Amino acid sequence: MSDLPPAADPHDAEWSYETAAVQSGIPRGLGQTIGFPIHAAAAFQFDTLEQAQTEFQTNAGLSYARIQNPTVRALESRITTLEGGESTVALASGQAATLTAILSVCRAGDHVVSASSLFGGTTGMLSNILPLMGISATLVDNTPGAIRAAMQENTRLVWAEMISNPAGDVADITAFADIAHQGGALLAIDNTCGGVGYLCRPLDHGADIVAQSLTKWAGGHGSVMGGSVTVGTRHDLTRNPIYTEGGENSVLTVRGDGALAWRQRWFGASQLGMTLAPHSAFLIAQGLETLALRMSRECETALALAQWLQAHPSVGQVSYPGLEDHPFHTQAQKYLSGFGAVLSFEVPDPAAFLSRLRVLRVAPNLGDVRTLVVHPWTTTHGRVPEAARRAAGVTPQTIRMSVGVEALVDLQADIAVGLSNRPTV
Ligand SMILES: *Cc1c(COP(=O)(O)O)cnc(C)c1O
Repeated sequence: MSDLPPAADPHDAEWSYETAAVQSGIPRGLGQTIGFPIHAAAAFQFDTLEQAQTEFQTNAGLSYARIQNPTVRALESRITTLEGGESTVALASGQAATLTAILSVCRAGDHVVSASSLFGGTTGMLSNILPLMGISATLVDNTPGAIRAAMQENTRLVWAEMISNPAGDVADITAFADIAHQGGALLAIDNTCGGVGYLCRPLDHGADIVAQSLTKWAGGHGSVMGGSVTVGTRHDLTRNPIYTEGGENSVLTVRGDGALAWRQRWFGASQLGMTLAPHSAFLIAQGLETLALRMSRECETALALAQWLQAHPSVGQVSYPGLEDHPFHTQAQKYLSGFGAVLSFEVPDPAAFLSRLRVLRVAPNLGDVRTLVVHPWTTTHGRVPEAARRAAGVTPQTIRMSVGVEALVDLQADIAVGLSNRPTV
């Protein structure tokens, strides 16, 4: 059998983020590659019938690349280290990660409570796709009181984003975890805007599952798609019938402590086939190596831009959790080591603003090294009902910006041109 990297070297967990991001998962030794080798493979060999039989029963090693691949596995172990978790399954997109996280604890008849300040794709999945499978969801304000009031007997999962976009709500993880656990449910946090544990590690604050898009800050260069689901070590599944009923066949009895992670790989990768390609895993692992550098710079620039925009006479409401007037500023200080790279602001004429830009680019991604802007009203939130759009902090004037690594002065100069009365071309 080909070598499968370890799930996560416990030694790596002692490193600080910047060190773990470049060192974890890379073996030392004569002739070892410095980066992750790409294993371009669909299947792996066995020597004996017994090996193959065991592998098909446990899915613990290498057999078929829909289930595991050494390159993907190396990325998974790096993410596990960076998020401070027990194990990770990497998948083809953030959407794949969201679906896998939900299906790992919910089945027909079950219920999800979610904060309503959400990525549009998550709102769509909770409102349109999961009901087709008999899983219902209640979307409420991003506060402990609203989450508690929405809990039902059949609630198996509470969901929130670490930092929502574009509003910049910050999840009160500790409070949400207590509410979920009291109700026998788990707490999942979408940590996409938290940058793979760089701004916050939700598992440290009581979350049970971290789901995220790796397309954004992890990839970091607008060149690859991916997602991941990481589980922590402390989750209690004994009140979820999926894991307990069925006696001898219960997932918990058969899979023990690793039951949740096993089900996520089984559903997301093995059965639904939302597998991450090894070339993508390589690009994401390489992106992670500079995430800390990029994101610390981006947070610094985003704060400077937010303050500058707030003082600009042509700009309306500026929303950024780093600003003292932001409703989640205190919570952001409590949970985050930086205020994130996404901000939003209102301009008088969004169409003219966007058409004048020469540095900022109009594109829907987040976390790119280049600064990207969109008009959420007509694009990312275009399908969301108007009241919900406004509740999410989106007005017809709002521009969302994901700040890149360019020089602050060039971004300011470009925005100034965008806001000027210069004729558009
Ligand atoms: C982009 C995004 C997703 C979905 O990720 P994809 O990789 O685009 O599928 C999920 N959650 C958040 C917060 C996102 O920004």
